Amino acid sequence: MLTTYDVIVVGAGIFGITAAIELRQRQYKVAVLDPGPLPTPLAASTDISKVIRMEYGSDEMYMIMVEKALVGWEQWNVEFAEKLYHNTGVTMLTRKPMQPGEFEYESYQLMLKRNHRPERLTGDDIARRFPAWKPGAFVDGYFHAKGGFAESGRVVEVLAQRAQEMGVTLYAEQAVQQVVMENGRIQGVQTTDGRTFNASQVLVAAGVWTPIILPELESVMRATGHPVFYLKTADTTLFKPPHFVVFTADITNSGWYGFPVHPKQDVIKIGNHGVGQLLHPVNDKRTVNDADIRQLRLFLEATFPTLKDATITHARRCLYCDTLDEHFWIDRHPHIEGLSVAAGDSGHGFKFAPILGNLIADAVTGQPNPWLSKFRWRDLDIATQGEEAARYHK
Ligand SMILES: Cc1cc2nc3c(=O)[nH]c(=O)nc-3n(C[C@H](O)[C@H](O)[C@H](O)COP(=O)(O)OP(=O)(O)OC[C@H]3O[C@@H](n4cnc5c(N)ncnc54)[C@H](O)[C@@H]3O)c2cc1C
Repeated sequence: MLTTYDVIVVGAGIFGITAAIELRQRQYKVAVLDPGPLPTPLAASTDISKVIRMEYGSDEMYMIMVEKALVGWEQWNVEFAEKLYHNTGVTMLTRKPMQPGEFEYESYQLMLKRNHRPERLTGDDIARRFPAWKPGAFVDGYFHAKGGFAESGRVVEVLAQRAQEMGVTLYAEQAVQQVVMENGRIQGVQTTDGRTFNASQVLVAAGVWTPIILPELESVMRATGHPVFYLKTADTTLFKPPHFVVFTADITNSGWYGFPVHPKQDVIKIGNHGVGQLLHPVNDKRTVNDADIRQLRLFLEATFPTLKDATITHARRCLYCDTLDEHFWIDRHPHIEGLSVAAGDSGHGFKFAPILGNLIADAVTGQPNPWLSKFRWRDLDIATQGEEAARYHK
């Protein structure tokens, strides 16, 4: 069967679905293909929560992008008639005094420069205001009232409904096998069950599955797995805002970050933003191992003593689509006319959801956008170091 669209979007995670909505708003006839069901359980976007933070060390462009995204998150809370962004504020704490050149210090200074109001905390302040933290273990850092978390899986679900209402055709049981080309120009896509969908433009936004569809990206993009734990504790009093908010715990030296008790799921989610494990998105299991659990218990004992024996109700390894430099990959294909890519989330893309659609649609349609040069199609040497400021790189 042949169906013709202006743009086919491959993948209905947050990159794909926001792009589809924006392209539809720009009057294109758009279809989105995803193996489904939506939100797809294995997608990076599908979880109970993702951190929304403006802290990116001294990288001002990301901070400006998050400032814009935060306006969008507040708007979505009103438009969706459902609160999916929770503005709890964030605590970014350190075990030693913050130092120039470090993530927390540079983020703090940049926020002051941009007229934000982060509140610097001493060890005593932390003990008084955030009593779940082990007294004396963290001696510096700050609370910033702007930021919190979004219920990410539900956000994708609501956006998918919105896309359909706007006239985007959603095929939630179609996996793309390959893009179809003729004379260096895109013709459409072919799905695993043999269907062909025709389009003058194709946008591949398939997260970690992107290099499977476009193997030319294998050298710059890879899947890495990161442990995520969901904890239950009998007494949650200490783990709710304002006494416990989205946090990072000396993150560039530990990787640990987490969330207050979830308003719907009643669990405390804790994850590790580190280098992770190289995994194949299809062939490998996404499970945590005994060493991950041991590391979690050690972290809890040293940080939140009352959680040290908390029940782990669920745990998994969630996949980042890591680019070598950890910046996103949003651009037109350099050699195939009509083909674009929006992937390479590198474990920090969800917070930008309200501005992603516009950014990606500008790339697809060739509109100038000052942010796109950072995310352009680029040659990266295998030795390229990751630059995401919050990440534990050791
Ligand atoms: C553990 C973890 C924690 C994270 N924490 C944060 C955070 O706190 N804050 C933050 O901002 N970001 C965070 N991120 C990053 C964020 O989740 C990602 O940036 C974002 O979800 C990426 O969206 P995506 O649309 O690119 O990919 P995905 O959400 O993975 O979507 C890809 C889609 O492509 C579909 N697909 C796959 N194969 C095919 C095919 N053959 N044909 C068609 N469709 C296909 C999939 O089904 C899926 O729906 C985290 C990520 C992980 C894994």
